[in-house]
Amino acid sequence: MTRHNNRPVIAASTLGFERLSLHAGEPVSMVCPTCERWTLWRRGMLKAHSADHVTGARCTGSNQRIYLDVDPAQWLRWLPEFKAAVELARRRTDRVHLPHGHRTMAPPPLLRPAA
Ligand SMILES: [Zn+2]
Repeated sequence: MTRHNNRPVIAASTLGFERLSLHAGEPVSMVCPTCERWTLWRRGMLKAHSADHVTGARCTGSNQRIYLDVDPAQWLRWLPEFKAAVELARRRTDRVHLPHGHRTMAPPPLLRPAA
């Protein structure tokens, strides 16, 4: 049996719903609180994973015990609201990035002849 990392158990609800993936029929995954990467959750723990894909260094959040205290049905009801909020925020951001005065743009640098 895999040993845990000796850190106190974290309740999944304290991570935030947007850091959980509780889709029916899919493996549960969560955002590791240590390295901020999506990580599979099995048998009450985050799977061992590396924090750095270049060096392969093991994340100290590996085998972190997480108590799943969120009801998947509740999470699934929350998900559409969250997606709508994200979409709304994205549209607002687009508007900020594309003000009316900026419609005429200089040619992109790739089309310019090499110096
Ligand atoms: Zn991690």
